[in-house]
Amino acid sequence: MRVLILGGTGEARELAARLHADNVAVVSSLAGRVARPRLPVGEVRIGGFGGPEKLAAWLAAERIACVVDATHPFAERISVSAARATAIAAVPLLRLARPGWRERPGDRWTWAADLHEAAALVPELGSRVLLTTGRQGLPAFAQSDAFFLVRCVDPPEPPLPRDHELLLDRGPYTVAGELALIDRHRLDLVVTKDSGGSLTEAKLDAARARGLPVVVVRRPPTPAGVETVTTVAAAHAWARAAHPG
Ligand code: NAP
Repeated sequence: MRVLILGGTGEARELAARLHADNVAVVSSLAGRVARPRLPVGEVRIGGFGGPEKLAAWLAAERIACVVDATHPFAERISVSAARATAIAAVPLLRLARPGWRERPGDRWTWAADLHEAAALVPELGSRVLLTTGRQGLPAFAQSDAFFLVRCVDPPEPPLPRDHELLLDRGPYTVAGELALIDRHRLDLVVTKDSGGSLTEAKLDAARARGLPVVVVRRPPTPAGVETVTTVAAAHAWARAAHPG
């Protein structure tokens, strides 16, 4: 029996390492979106499962004792699929999602329900935008007249914003680096998803320091009834209890 970790995040890699160190058999699953993914220790499989029914069949065939969904907070479809599949296969499921970011004194945040609402807010808040919502979210900004410094890990597919410059990078980022970026490109607005975590938080500190507004896209909801924790330590304890052997 093995633990399945649905991954693609630093937390997923850390959990795989901790369970591996405990001699718990782990298989980590990646979507295969990124050209050169950071790989966790232990067994790794790459690619979609083909929907919840196929994932349920996979869980049974691979003798999976429990599943930790440690995917990115905005990876909505795989989280819904994991909830359905584990219900079908009667396998315990835990959602590990790092806490969202919190507004601090001096911040000028506007929350958006989704990427389209974020794009609609741009004209009233700025004209030179640091856009860090990921390459899959870019079509929402394609009709905008603003300039976008688009930062993402892999090259995006069109449609892209008409006026943009591409910056391929994956972090982690420093406040000094983000301040330099804001100043060099004369940016006046930051648009981000509420990804949470320290690795990409520096842009929020830099925006505060320069007095820039930030549009923050809210997270999609966690599927109903799924137990959720926010730390790798809690997920580790849960997996050890669910899979004592
Ligand atoms: P998504 O929209 O929820 O997933 C789309 C499809 O990709 C899923 O239906 C599933 O295909 C497959 N998939 C996603 N994650 C998978 C995994 N860990 N293992 C196997 N199949 C997976 O997800 P996404 O937003 O495209 O994100 C893809 C991956 O990138 C996730 O694993 C996530 O952790 C990571 N990531 C996402 C973001 C983000 O902002 N969305 C940021 C950083 C990292 P089937 O239905 O065929 O099973």
